[in-house]
Amino acid sequence: MFCKNCGREISDSAVVCPHCGVQIAEFKKSASKQTCTMAIVGFVLSFLVSVAGLICSIIARKKCREENLEGGGLALAGIIISAVEIVLGIISVLVVIIYFVVFLGFLASL
Ligand SMILES: [Zn+2]
Repeated sequence: MFCKNCGREISDSAVVCPHCGVQIAEFKKSASKQTCTMAIVGFVLSFLVSVAGLICSIIARKKCREENLEGGGLALAGIIISAVEIVLGIISVLVVIIYFVVFLGFLASL
């Protein structure tokens, strides 16, 4: 493999680059990032229970940033999907209320 810092070839088992002294083990760790389970849970939940999905995704996004985990994009998708569902839910409730008010108004005019 090659050193991510200086680009020179080094041993695969090297922990520190013999050319520039940069820690290789840390680069290896960040190269194979772990996916945040919470992000997957939040993403799936966003389709089923939008409020729970939104909360899970927000927590997952925070966790991904703090612990440098994979899944920030997935968490963001979960947040957007949940938020859209909640907004659509509010709109549909408002539409029902407006129809109801209009219908009552129609009945009152009879
Ligand atoms: Zn190097």
